[in-house]
Amino acid sequence: MKFNQKHSFFTELLAGQGQPLVIAGPCSAETEEQVMQTAQALKQQRIHLFRAGIWKPRTRPGSFEGVGSEGLLWLNRVKRELGMKVTTEVATARHVEEALKQEVDVLWIGARTTVNPFAVQEIADALKGVKVPVMIKNPVNPDLALWIGAIERIYHAGVSDMAAIHRGFSSYQKSKYRNVPVWQIPIELKARYQSLPVIVDPSHIGGKRELIFPVSQKALDLGYDGVMIETHPNPEQALSDAEQQVTPARLAEILGQLQVRKSHYDDVELENRAEELRLQIDAADHDIIAALAKRMALVEQIGDYKKQNNVQVLQLERWKEIFRSRGEWAEDAGLHAAFIEELYKLIHVESIRKQTQILDGV
Ligand code: PEP
Ligand code: MN
Repeated sequence: MKFNQKHSFFTELLAGQGQPLVIAGPCSAETEEQVMQTAQALKQQRIHLFRAGIWKPRTRPGSFEGVGSEGLLWLNRVKRELGMKVTTEVATARHVEEALKQEVDVLWIGARTTVNPFAVQEIADALKGVKVPVMIKNPVNPDLALWIGAIERIYHAGVSDMAAIHRGFSSYQKSKYRNVPVWQIPIELKARYQSLPVIVDPSHIGGKRELIFPVSQKALDLGYDGVMIETHPNPEQALSDAEQQVTPARLAEILGQLQVRKSHYDDVELENRAEELRLQIDAADHDIIAALAKRMALVEQIGDYKKQNNVQVLQLERWKEIFRSRGEWAEDAGLHAAFIEELYKLIHVESIRKQTQILDGV
């Protein structure tokens, strides 16, 4: 896919500013007054795009499901009276048609829609022949191929003005995040499609106000192009996502505190020093791989030995001892024990694979 970078809605908004793209506004449009009040406050902050959900996909029925099409008139008022660009979530062909009729500037596809190729295709069909920028949130499950698939469906409908939004992934495991970030997935997406802008949604990743700043800063440190932050004049009273919205005043503080770092070193001297360090890191990685090869050769020897003596591959007590001691050794060496334990889980799987191959030829 080749995204339209030269005349991209997103790159044009950012042109030469050296600042991230900022999308802000309430999780949901609730009343005309709330929408106008939020937009007026955000207009002072020169945000690039005003967001508000009109049709809300909620986990369980009975929660506030959005004000529906009427809210589009309020967004249209924000456009006309305040001169701001506006965006909303679409999940069906009808949403697309109605949003376009009210001249919504940018559409976004939500995480619960990205998971469903039928729904994404329906939206793509409704977008054929239409010139509107589209942002695609990651699917709720950590599946890069599904995210790329949704981007491709929209791209093949003729939309080349796109951005991806990273809003984290749901997980059954307890975590401090509402949706765990799994940073490797958006990083891989960025690596594959370098011209595709990637925007972080720290509100849905964190699920609480306190995490908006650190998650946004981390994303900027990773070279993200923008942030989408849920903003409400009275967050505690919000009809959806109350814990993760901030006031316009708090948004201003967050934006003021974010550090935007350079994408490159300023001069050749500095670049050369980084290159020297990279060479040393390459050498250290060679050593790690050589040490792993040596370890696996020993594993093969013990595999042969177990075979000769007709002994089981998995020696549970031995493995427990390895996990325990390697965690301790790691800490003695100033490394995070949890990191080395994760690494040893992988080493364990490979050691077992090698030994069962020796024992049973499978
Ligand atoms: C939203 O942005 O309010 C929203 C519903 O997000 P997501 O699709 O990421 O859950
Ligand atoms: Mn929300």
